[in-house]
Amino acid sequence: MKIEKDISLLAYNTFGIDAKAKIFAEYYSLDELRELLRQYRGEKILHIGQGSNLLFTRDFDGVILHSGMARARFLDDETVEAQNGLRLDDMIAQLTDMGYCGLEKLSLIPGEVGASAVQNVGAYGVEAKDVIERVYTIDVETLEERVFTNSECRFGYRDSAFKHELKGKYIVTSVVYKVKPGEATKTREEIITTRMAKLPTVGEVGSAGSFFMNPFVPEQQANALLAQYPDMPHFATPQGVKIPAAWLIEQCGWKGKTLGGAQVWPKQPLVIVNANNASAQDIIDLAAQVAASVQEKFGITIHPEVNYI
Ligand SMILES: Cc1cc2nc3c(=O)[nH]c(=O)nc-3n(C[C@H](O)[C@H](O)[C@H](O)COP(=O)(O)OP(=O)(O)OC[C@H]3O[C@@H](n4cnc5c(N)ncnc54)[C@H](O)[C@@H]3O)c2cc1C
Repeated sequence: MKIEKDISLLAYNTFGIDAKAKIFAEYYSLDELRELLRQYRGEKILHIGQGSNLLFTRDFDGVILHSGMARARFLDDETVEAQNGLRLDDMIAQLTDMGYCGLEKLSLIPGEVGASAVQNVGAYGVEAKDVIERVYTIDVETLEERVFTNSECRFGYRDSAFKHELKGKYIVTSVVYKVKPGEATKTREEIITTRMAKLPTVGEVGSAGSFFMNPFVPEQQANALLAQYPDMPHFATPQGVKIPAAWLIEQCGWKGKTLGGAQVWPKQPLVIVNANNASAQDIIDLAAQVAASVQEKFGITIHPEVNYI
């Protein structure tokens, strides 16, 4: 294992915020993870992946855990078990090369396997929940292993039980995904091209991807808005009518606007970027102003997808 004290988290969050952590510990086996949890019992603990959905709003006065376990193996011809620290896209690239499909629409989503289950990542009509069979975890208190079936994870839109009632109680250690033999190269390439055209590239422009989640509104409210804005994109779903937050934000005139070093990404207004040495406060303030103007113009509350730490 590797333990560092008082370190900058700049390299550990894609927003590029230079917050500090009291302790940063990386483990390479489940035994090491258990040892760290024992050693730091009582401390504030945050397990991170690639830090691609985090906004460090201040220095972290506790222990940041990160997994250095990054292997995957076939359990049989239809299931792959991947360790939490493996980059999701690296796994998809390997599966595609080996002639397996199922996850290709999630190509190029930043982040690691562990967080894919926590966040229920999704893109182009596919969500992690569609391909996750089960999730292995370690209970932070008892240090025992617990396996969650897909339904026990209580997946929702960018959501799972690990973000609510189980938050901070379990560390996802590996995820079993369903795959099937099939050609996915073309789809993967198309998705990579589309994503690269509109989303900031990690390592070049700081961001956490979509800053806000798409809102769902009751049918009555959607109809009233449609009477006023006939071009408003909308999608009927069992949870209500989904309205793209990007459209709402664009209508409020935010595309390309800046506040301090933060900017609403001109190519995709759902994304807030660190355009010029933004402080966390710049990003928080810009996001708050964007949300307030959407609320004022449309009467719709948009909620951040990004985890404020
Ligand atoms: C340019 C860009 C594009 C993006 N596009 C998409 C997209 O298309 N679709 C999408 O869904 N997301 C997208 N995202 C968001 C991000 O990729 C996902 O949320 C991803 O799952 C985050 O993974 P991570 O490893 O970076 O997790 P982190 O950001 O480090 O952590 C996210 C959360 O998971 C928790 N966590 C991490 N690992 C574990 C673990 N092992 N056990 C328990 N909890 C854990 C953390 O505590 C935190 O609460 C994008 C982000 C960027 C920067």
